Amino acid sequence: MFEGIKGFREASFLDWDGKVASVIFIGGCNFRCPFCQNYPLVFNDVPDYPFSSIQSFFEENGDFIDGVVITGGEPTMYKDIEELCSFLKGKGFEIKLDTNGSTDFDYSTVDYVAMDVKASLEHYERAAGVKVNTERIKNSIKKVRALKEYEFRTTVVPGIVDERSIESIGKEIEGAKLWALQQFQGEHVLDERFKIRPYERDKIMRMKDIAESYVGEVIVRGI
Ligand code: SF4
Repeated sequence: MFEGIKGFREASFLDWDGKVASVIFIGGCNFRCPFCQNYPLVFNDVPDYPFSSIQSFFEENGDFIDGVVITGGEPTMYKDIEELCSFLKGKGFEIKLDTNGSTDFDYSTVDYVAMDVKASLEHYERAAGVKVNTERIKNSIKKVRALKEYEFRTTVVPGIVDERSIESIGKEIEGAKLWALQQFQGEHVLDERFKIRPYERDKIMRMKDIAESYVGEVIVRGI
């Protein structure tokens, strides 16, 4: 039914805070973030995962699943994303979408959006590894902020995000409900030059302090 799905995690407690969620992985991405850990997906270098197996899992275990996370790659570039969302909704699942915010996707069709804000807008290209239309990122920030349930996410990559970037991003998302700062993992990254040490905890906590002056709540993941 749906071709181009590259992976499936049956049940996860980590991908949607407070929920037991299945995770669908979509291949392909328009960014080339040097610190990307999902690069086999980005390059679509993974065989398709049969949708029939996902369907069978939902039929047998759907009652135990609160929702489905659609991640990637960049899921909003998937040609059948709208149909996939309708299908999952039809099965009674809530949907969380992970996105880089670079497309015109209508986020109101899902229940929760986690949007990356990868760097200060003036240095976005460094984070995304490609030229980026930052007006689109701004527009997505606006659309996501209007949703009931969402978060903005920033991976704190040395050389890309520092305290000044946190201030700059904070100004872009000022007044938002939730901002997640994520620890960077340097082991398996797209660009070998980013096989570097992550920031120490203290530095990230200083960034958290700065971030807290801009949004309702800041959480730190991965430290
Ligand atoms: S947006 Fe960046 S980090 Fe996310 S999948 Fe694409 S290349 Fe990887």
